[in-house]
Amino acid sequence: MEDQLLDVLIIGSGPAGLSAAIYAKRANLSVLVAEKEYMGTGQIAESDCVDNYLGMPGMNGFDLGEAFRAHAQKLGVEFYEGMADSFSKQPDCWKVHFQEGKELCSKTIIYCAGAAHRHLGIAGEEEYIGKGVSYCAVCDGAFYRGKQTAVIGGGDTALGDALYLSDLCEKVYIIHRREQFRGSAKTVAQLRETENVEMITSAVPKRITGEQTVTALELKDGRTIPVSGAFVAVGMEPLTSPLQGVVDLDDSGYVVADETGVTSTPGFFAAGDVRTKALRQVVTAVSDGANAATSAAAYLMQEK
Ligand code: NAP
Repeated sequence: MEDQLLDVLIIGSGPAGLSAAIYAKRANLSVLVAEKEYMGTGQIAESDCVDNYLGMPGMNGFDLGEAFRAHAQKLGVEFYEGMADSFSKQPDCWKVHFQEGKELCSKTIIYCAGAAHRHLGIAGEEEYIGKGVSYCAVCDGAFYRGKQTAVIGGGDTALGDALYLSDLCEKVYIIHRREQFRGSAKTVAQLRETENVEMITSAVPKRITGEQTVTALELKDGRTIPVSGAFVAVGMEPLTSPLQGVVDLDDSGYVVADETGVTSTPGFFAAGDVRTKALRQVVTAVSDGANAATSAAAYLMQEK
């Protein structure tokens, strides 16, 4: 499969990529999914509880991702482990180069690489990654059992992380730069009722300090919050660095594409969190994948 000219090469094995794979496979196209590494199915693997995917209330994110993957595998979808780092248009195909040196050729690309955790960019953050600074409460929360932690951010990720940590930690501070939270009002209300959670709003982190590991978070207003863990949940950035000059990106680096997945470049489609859209959720990623595969199939038919 890897050495043949593919109909569809999908970059990324999150919900968008796997949904695209299923639709492409069912359209009888030759399809391969390239993934950076297999560590669960993208970002959802980090979610303790996905409560808004229709028909699956309270589903663990990792389990939901595994169910998506098992579905794709059942249909015979194959995977290649590698990090795509450049795309070049040839007369009859796209040549995709991988960091490891491998090259794959495909008539179309569906790019579903998603987004990565944004960093705060404050002193101490990079130094203490893995020593008290984390970007995934579900992955690392257990290391802070019985300790004091801070979650930085005011979106759904930060709120969900705080709720998750409140079950494990002695105390959880939520540090948010504004008064109003961006995330769900229902979760905010739930957190206000949680005894060991303290919300510190209109507060901007200045520095993470420690010795071997993190001991405190300093705020710009001069306060020092003693914590062993700082969970940074301040949003995501699209993983589009290999796409400079390949397709149009918006000012924030997202691929400009509507729900059809069609980009500025013929034969190159985008789906999931990586494209311009209002709502980045599992349900919209899955929908994007289906649409992008359908667009790719229509493109291939037209090119015949
Ligand atoms: P987000 O909604 O973009 O929120 C990021 C938060 O971080 C905002 O509150 C923002 O503050 C704050 N922030 C950004 N840069 C900062 C900085 N440099 N310093 C301090 N604070 C900073 O990101 P997200 O929470 O990761 O959510 C992303 C998407 O996934 C959203 O659509 C969300 O609804 C969705 N999601 C859904 C679920 C669920 O439904 N179960 C769970 C997780 C995420 P401001 O508010 O001031 O901008």
